[in-house]
Amino acid sequence: MKEHQLYIGGEWVDPEGGDHLDSVDPYRGEVWARIARGGVKDVARAVDAARQALTSSPWADMSASQRGGVMRRLADLVVEHLDRLAEIEVRDNGKLLAEVRGQLRSVAECWYYYAGLADKIEGASIPLEKPDMVAFTNREPIGVVAALTAWNSPLWFTAVKCAPALAAGCTVVVKPSEFASVSTLEFAALAEQAGLPAGVFNVVTGLGLEVGSALVEHPDVAKVTFTGSDVTGMRVYETAARTMKRVSLELGGKSPNIVFDDADLDLAATGAVSGIFGAAGQMCAAGSRLLVQRSVKKEFTEKLLELARGVRLGDPMDAATNVGPIATPPQFEKVLHYIDVAEADGARRLLGGRAATGPGLTGGQFVEPTIYDGVTNDMRIAQEEVFGPILSIIEFDDEEEAVRLGNDVAYGLVAGVWTTSIGRAMRMSKALKVGTVWVNTYRAYSYMVPFGGTKRSGLGREHGIEAVHEYLETKSVVISTRDDAPANAFVMR
Ligand code: NAD
Repeated sequence: MKEHQLYIGGEWVDPEGGDHLDSVDPYRGEVWARIARGGVKDVARAVDAARQALTSSPWADMSASQRGGVMRRLADLVVEHLDRLAEIEVRDNGKLLAEVRGQLRSVAECWYYYAGLADKIEGASIPLEKPDMVAFTNREPIGVVAALTAWNSPLWFTAVKCAPALAAGCTVVVKPSEFASVSTLEFAALAEQAGLPAGVFNVVTGLGLEVGSALVEHPDVAKVTFTGSDVTGMRVYETAARTMKRVSLELGGKSPNIVFDDADLDLAATGAVSGIFGAAGQMCAAGSRLLVQRSVKKEFTEKLLELARGVRLGDPMDAATNVGPIATPPQFEKVLHYIDVAEADGARRLLGGRAATGPGLTGGQFVEPTIYDGVTNDMRIAQEEVFGPILSIIEFDDEEEAVRLGNDVAYGLVAGVWTTSIGRAMRMSKALKVGTVWVNTYRAYSYMVPFGGTKRSGLGREHGIEAVHEYLETKSVVISTRDDAPANAFVMR
């Protein structure tokens, strides 16, 4: 079994304490790799390497176009090693192989996209009210970036954080989730092969409370970009404030998937099922609150149940599987706990509601696709993020009520709207207080379209051109064009 090291300053090194953590395959329930348990000293070394690479290194001397060139080579290597990387992620988090392959194609495209953007970052020339002066802005790299990622999509998060950061000229220290670190380490080997200079891309694996918090506290880290739970995100935000770090937070959600009576109900049912049972519901954008207009509720629920009953649980490597295991033991316990919570609050179970067992499911932590009816928006199952395959059906009468219920949660990550009325689609997309509205589709992520949350779902935006600005500081330069001294040197204008 492979015991992994840390990747710091272009070298593979052992962690300071020499300890390792188990990486467990959630389908087989067995340890399949071991990752290094980094500590405070490892974080200090990594940040130091990243700081040096930023100021005095081949990276600092490269033109933006050259930086883009290295990033393109890295994207080529992701394509070349795609199958191997996909299998690693499946072993670490139990996501379906077919889905991870698709995601890794987007990871490569994301690196190409930001490689192309590297030499298109421009400042502005600013017209001034002051005579004999000119002003312009430069966009400079913010500095050393700490990227903290969650276990459900490690290389996707690494791409959407690190590609714009490197395009901006920053250097990074990545801390992947302790539950799924191996693909990020393999990616670091590809970064080295692509020619990223030492210190530009570092990986320190380990625990959140050890490596994660040491990175957030480190005074030489200028920016923290975090994907994870809202509770940890708030702690990161508070800690980062002490050293005035810039912070981006991609947190959880309790997203409404809203079905109107004028929708294509077959399409909407497919969107509802994939929106909650895809990735076994372990996605920030899970459409966990299904808001259905009362007039079509009966007909729609039948379609939904028919599709959901056909969902096949099993080996995530098997192309016939629709839903894989829950990724970690604590997450498995949490999902089962919320089944108890929903039933204690009076939700009416239509499907599932238990841990799934049976042939082909022995080693893993499986939960049956579960659907509750009769849910009201004040129940805990309608308000709290589960991160599992549990769907709550909530009824509404009209557009106004759909907006009120849709917005009546602490989160604001995404919303789905199913309608054939373009006017309604426009009105709903304006009224819903979320970062992304998907109309007649769901889970339509793209590295080109800004993504992020409002309210408790986070701060800042990833993806698209906007993401690069999260890694830049604007510097203003104002120059006097006069050669003579002003009449009164103390009255500067
Ligand atoms: P988590 O908050 O437990 O951990 C996220 C990362 O932070 C991990 O690398 C962890 O080791 C680290 N960490 C933990 N404690 C820390 C601390 N005190 N200081 C610094 N770092 C610390 O989240 P998770 O369980 O890995 O992921 C699930 C959560 O992520 C869900 O809530 C989900 O909604 C959210 N998520 C959000 C998005 C998004 O884009 N908005 C995407 C996927 C997942």
